[in-house]
Formats: sequence, C-alpha cells, structure tokens
Amino acid sequence: MKRIFISDLHLDKKEPQLQEAFEIFLTAECRDADQLYILGDLFEAWIGDDDPGEHSTNVINLLSGLSCELFLMHGNRDFLIGDQFCEATRATLLQDPSLITIGDENVLLMHGDSLCTLDTGYQRVRQVLRSEAFQSDFLKKTISEREDITQQMRGQSKKHTSTMKEEIMDVTPEEVVRTMNEKKATKLIHGHTHRPAVHEHQLENVIGHRYVLGDWRPSTRYLSVEGSDFQLKEFNF
Ligand code: MN
Repeated sequence: MKRIFISDLHLDKKEPQLQEAFEIFLTAECRDADQLYILGDLFEAWIGDDDPGEHSTNVINLLSGLSCELFLMHGNRDFLIGDQFCEATRATLLQDPSLITIGDENVLLMHGDSLCTLDTGYQRVRQVLRSEAFQSDFLKKTISEREDITQQMRGQSKKHTSTMKEEIMDVTPEEVVRTMNEKKATKLIHGHTHRPAVHEHQLENVIGHRYVLGDWRPSTRYLSVEGSDFQLKEFNF
C-alpha cells in the first residue's frame, strides 16, 4: 500500500504553471500510489462549488482522472469545498482532524491551522468563518459579491500576518502534544505553516513524529508512505 500526502498547493487561475506542475506530480509521483491525501489549501481561494470557471474545471478533470483513491481535507482557504466538488472528483472529504491507521500506528491528519493557538486573532476569525451561519449566509450571495468579500479578507489577513512574530505563526508544540495524546496518535501529518520538516515530540509513553508538508513555490516537500516507511520527499518542477 502506497499513500501520498500533499497540501498547500494554493492553485490559482493566475498561475497556470502551478497547475501544470501539479499535473506532472500526479503523473510522476502518484503513478503507483493507492491513495492520495490532500490536506487542505488545494486552492488559493474557493468561494463555492457553484463558481463556474475554466480553472476549477481543469482541476476537477485532473483529479477525477486519477486511478488512486482520493481524500480531501479543507484548509483555511478552501473550506467551502462541498459535496458537488467531491462528487465530481470522486473525493472523500475528511474531517479535520481525522485519524487513520497505518500498520499498527494511529496517524492523525490535520490541515494545521487549528494548532496555531498563539494566534488568537486568527482563531477567533476561524471560528466565525467555519460557522454554519456564516457559510450559509455567504453562499447565498452572488459570485461577484463573494469574490469581493474574499478579496477584502485576503487583504486583512495579509495585514494581520505581517505584524506577527514567527513563532506565533507556527503550531504551538504544547497543542501538538495535547492533541496527539488525546487522539492516541503516534504520528501527525499536517501542512499550513509552509515549513516542511520532521519533528519529534515526547508523548505520554513514546516519542511521536510530526510530518509537516510544504507549499509549492517553487518546489514542494511531500510525504510518501509505503507500508510503514514514512519519507518526506522533494519534488522539483
Ligand atoms: Mn493553510
């Protein structure tokens, strides 16, 4: 069994070369994979499944043509991906967090933003954006209204992150340990921070491993798991 984990592509119609890179990745690296997991922020922005556009259609076609099983998790940019998108791509939507078993280990999958608990401003905004009330209200607006709101929020978010200290923008180690212990997971895979690495954490009884996936500009680090062999690999394009 071979599993591939990626995240944070931030696909954007303004960057067609990134979509080409993704296509190459799927052909080259996922050729012999049984399962592909996209752990959030596949898109730079997603304002609803009803937004027609050549770019999203291309991505849907790309994903629906995969021969492996596809699992998708929401990120902070594309949490409005819904049933229509998942049906079209034959993807299974995963809750954040999700626990899977690999070999005899519990492996926790997350996007990663909920672990950045020191950024209290962001966590407050996250709670609002992820609420049923906000989302149903937002999806009732016209496409162009939604685009305007998204643009405004991007601007605010950029302003916010530019004033933040580095460690505040990263996951909180204590929260990582707490979450892994709570879920009885010995491994954690997440993205979001764009700081690809393998970290060790002292858990209740064992040393746990945390695999952080990379973003895609200009290359990426992704996780390949064959049997119980976890490897953070580099993909250049
Ligand atoms: Mn993210």
